[in-house]
Amino acid sequence: MVMKFSVCNLGCKVNAYEAESIAARLVQSGWERVQFTEPADAALIFTCAVTNIAAGKSRKMMHRVRRLNPDCVTVMAGCYAQVQDGMLEDAEIIVGTENKNRIPEYLEEYMRERKKIRAYTDLQSVCFDNMVSAQSDEKSRAYLKVQDGCDQFCTYCIIPYVRGRERSMDPDRAVQEASALAKTYHEIVLTGIHTGRYGKEYNVTLASLMKRILNETSVQRLRISSIEITEITDELIELMKEDDRIAKHLHIPLQSGCDRILSLMNRPYTTAEYYDKIEWIREQIPGIAVSCDLITGFPTETDADFEETFAFLKKCRFSFLHVFPYSMRQGTPAAEMAQVSSEVKKERAGRCLQLSGELAKEYASQWIGKKVSVLFEQSRNGYTEGYDSHYMYVKIPGNHPRGMLAECIIREYRDDAVYAEAAEL
Ligand code: SF4
Repeated sequence: MVMKFSVCNLGCKVNAYEAESIAARLVQSGWERVQFTEPADAALIFTCAVTNIAAGKSRKMMHRVRRLNPDCVTVMAGCYAQVQDGMLEDAEIIVGTENKNRIPEYLEEYMRERKKIRAYTDLQSVCFDNMVSAQSDEKSRAYLKVQDGCDQFCTYCIIPYVRGRERSMDPDRAVQEASALAKTYHEIVLTGIHTGRYGKEYNVTLASLMKRILNETSVQRLRISSIEITEITDELIELMKEDDRIAKHLHIPLQSGCDRILSLMNRPYTTAEYYDKIEWIREQIPGIAVSCDLITGFPTETDADFEETFAFLKKCRFSFLHVFPYSMRQGTPAAEMAQVSSEVKKERAGRCLQLSGELAKEYASQWIGKKVSVLFEQSRNGYTEGYDSHYMYVKIPGNHPRGMLAECIIREYRDDAVYAEAAEL
């Protein structure tokens, strides 16, 4: 009898990468993957602990599975599983940060012995868990997780407490993985929890890894998922200038545009340092897209602090903003600070989202009449859509193959999208 399993990912790109990798291994070992709501022998929930809300969702998902599918073995994995607050005790299997790779084994063991399994991780001695990148026909680009953990301890963030110390994939292994992925995907996205800190234990840098991937594989586009302003080196920018295959977009978390708040967040830069660096990057690579993450309503943020942030966002001319209303996370220093009301958080987030639309339009407008290369992701409503090197979401008329990389000429910005026509197909 074929055993069935389902997967639910509640977290970030790194969580998604890990969930898909484990799912691929289960399928290879003869399990059948079904939709999350369908009856299954096992349900794998990759949890998130980044906010109280995310943790709550993880618990809710566990109870939902148990209600809909009482005989199903529930596997709780990921960051919230590592928190060990006793709220997931109903689950048959709980897997902490490091042991996700062993989920197929734990399932086998549980099916055999029917004894609950608790595989938490000692975060002081955690190693990099080499996972094989899952290949899926549904995707046009592949993620490659090369780094894990974080030593920065921003005051609002639980990740250093659940993912442990910074660690990296062996460079040779990373090039090998990238080489395999490049046979199927035109674009590879290097990802991690703190990607810019890749390679310390191997005495190499993210830029040197990227150089090897560009030299030793057939990758056509290489992208960095996000990188801290303090980790953007001359070496990296030199490489980005030299090689057209590197996506001309940097997603650089800002979090606040007010120095008082940045210091309360324990962020390692000032607004002046951040601004000077992105202006320098733009001088080096004209037209590069710079986007950021932003938290609104961080504890004690006043109206004046927020107006400072809002003005700074405009000054930085980002290509878009990822906006997150602050969400308290128990166990972090910021949770002990004076909280801002959720109405105010939401109102500030709303203003920033509107600004993000205006900034995206402004950024895209400089590309009208110019050529960009677009990686096609999907076709719908008579258009084929995908991201270009600058991470602009581009639509061109017609139905074109998913995963194709094509030159397109930008024609206009309309309804939060960039419209183009194919230069050659
Ligand atoms: S850099 Fe800060 S926000 Fe990012 S994972 Fe580390 S502690 Fe969290």
